[in-house]
Amino acid sequence: MKVMVDRTRCNGTGICEITAPAVFEIDDDGALRIITEEVSPDQHEAVKTAIQNCPTQALSIMD
Ligand code: SF4
Repeated sequence: MKVMVDRTRCNGTGICEITAPAVFEIDDDGALRIITEEVSPDQHEAVKTAIQNCPTQALSIMD
């Protein structure tokens, strides 16, 4: 599973970082950094929750 961010939608709220800190990180400039695009199986549920909770629907997955 691969996770992608639409940077035209992301506003840097960081909800995804709270939900899945092993995958998402807000850097010092307030921009979202995806730590690992290829999501390990133990992170799948956290990433799916982050996608559902993203207020701007900026995240998507590709199986
Ligand atoms: S929750 Fe959505 S809008 Fe907020 S930082 Fe993550 S991807 Fe961006």
